[in-house]
Amino acid sequence: MPLTKDQQLQYIAHLVGECKKCDLSKTATNPVPGSGNPNAEIVFIGEAPGEQEDKQGLPFVGNSGKLLDKLLNTIRVSRSDVFICNILKHRPPGNRDPLPEEMKVCVPYLKAQLKIIQPKIVITLGRFAMNYFFPQESISRVHGQIRNITWQDLPLTIIPVYHPSAGLRNGAMLKSLQNDFLSIGKLLKDN
Ligand code: URA
Repeated sequence: MPLTKDQQLQYIAHLVGECKKCDLSKTATNPVPGSGNPNAEIVFIGEAPGEQEDKQGLPFVGNSGKLLDKLLNTIRVSRSDVFICNILKHRPPGNRDPLPEEMKVCVPYLKAQLKIIQPKIVITLGRFAMNYFFPQESISRVHGQIRNITWQDLPLTIIPVYHPSAGLRNGAMLKSLQNDFLSIGKLLKDN
């Protein structure tokens, strides 16, 4: 019998747990491979685990996660409908930015997750996840745009939005996030 999507994702989580391809596993408390619905039509991709995520081994469970939950609520989507993960699967010390070499060795896990789940829509949270799909773009220019692409032979609708942590720091960015989620809600309604 072929493995279910859930089993395949669990295998990726196991590989992440064993990963020593960069030094982040030495300083992290727990790996944070990602969590949610293996059959999700929507995948959210953030940057990297923060303090709370590192403690709990789960993505977006700190303050940014609370804002993400509120934004999901506004479009009547529950966490159990979606899959949430990050570009990096271990916390960078002090929440510093991901390094290029860390992203290079970590993104194969993200690729594997997307190929297993085969979502219709990917919502990137912040510039690092956006730059994975659009390396030349800036988040201030593309946030809220709905872009249909073919990624690794998979048709994907990518919607970049600001990172929730930016929304927590800056009222204008929070407004942008709220507006962009309204567009996402409208897209979901129309489909
Ligand atoms: N910020 C992220 O990018 N990811 C998390 O999981 C938490 C905070």
